[in-house]
Amino acid sequence: MTPSRPSAIEVHNSATVIDTHADTPQRFVDEDFDLGDPLGGGNLNLDSIRKGNLGAEFFSIWVEPTRYRGQYARRTLELIDAVTRQVERHSDRMVLATTSGDIERAHQDRRFAALMGIEGGHSIENSLALLRQYYALGVRYMTLTWSNSNDWADSSGDIADPSVRHTPRGLSAFGEGVVSEMNRLGMIVDVSHVADPTFYRAQAVSRAPIIASHSCARALCDHPRNMTDDMLVALARSGGPNSMGGVVQVNFFSGFISQTYRDAMKAMQAEVDSALLHARGAAQSQGRDFTYAEEERIRRGFMDKIARPPLRSLIDHIDHIAKVAGVDHVGLGSDFDGVSGQLPDGIDSAADLPKITEALLDRAFSAEDCRKILGGNLLRVFREVEAVSREPATETPRR
Ligand SMILES: [Zn+2]
Repeated sequence: MTPSRPSAIEVHNSATVIDTHADTPQRFVDEDFDLGDPLGGGNLNLDSIRKGNLGAEFFSIWVEPTRYRGQYARRTLELIDAVTRQVERHSDRMVLATTSGDIERAHQDRRFAALMGIEGGHSIENSLALLRQYYALGVRYMTLTWSNSNDWADSSGDIADPSVRHTPRGLSAFGEGVVSEMNRLGMIVDVSHVADPTFYRAQAVSRAPIIASHSCARALCDHPRNMTDDMLVALARSGGPNSMGGVVQVNFFSGFISQTYRDAMKAMQAEVDSALLHARGAAQSQGRDFTYAEEERIRRGFMDKIARPPLRSLIDHIDHIAKVAGVDHVGLGSDFDGVSGQLPDGIDSAADLPKITEALLDRAFSAEDCRKILGGNLLRVFREVEAVSREPATETPRR
């Protein structure tokens, strides 16, 4: 007789499920999308949140750096405003959470907790005052960069581009100050998107454990945006000798989880680029803006032709990170609404999250491990970041 295993849905529904990255705010602002609406090609709405028992989402405050040049703070504020307006409109089912305790209380009250994370340090426009004000408005993590390097931190997206000016050590002295100020405020330091030297510098400087809000393992899919095994271990040990360590939240994007998909994408890159160039030229000759939505439609048209990787590919990354860094150091960072619908087979929206729990149980992860991966690990890190913010800040980084 084999001991009976708890059902996947029981385990899933017993967890505080936390996802650390969704780009839905772009939809709120650009498409006037409301979380009460049908999905309409997206991955996240109130209905799918309920079906998938999603307890908390970190909504990404992402400012496209070329389109909004000169208006980074304005766009940042518009996105923050859009999230808070969603909370107001759906206050019966949603709450704005700014602490780990808020997430737990919301879970007990059966309400969905909305949090915010800034994606890309360019949003602070080289100003610690802006960083502090974003914190005051509820922002609780910041990726030091997006795909663009900024004046104080380097990105994996352009680190190989010699025409872009980079910092000598990955983080400038000001960048180290940004990390220290985030520690003092209680804002989680997020290393998704950063270049490898920037990762190591941030890891060394931060007094609190750090996260990667939406990143995968480079050993399984060779993308510069994914993390090497050495980085996974270093992140798990972040926060100093007394810390329980950070957490890597696995991105669901097909192009980060599957080498086969990535190779197919690379093979069509020239074709995509020329289609975009064409469409941009056509828009210009008609005297109109080439919109982000238009660009997104073209990209999606190409990527939809590539076969979706199996769900197994996503689980492989969770499994790998659990093996290399430890089961206490892995979680979920879907990138819903930020990957042009390019998700593994069977994952179309937040409603499909229980399938991940089922697949983890199939791989012999215990119910307790599943609960850690689904949100427990992130909560632990968040609590520790809050505790560090209450410590008196030292003048120089601890190590
Ligand atoms: Zn991202």
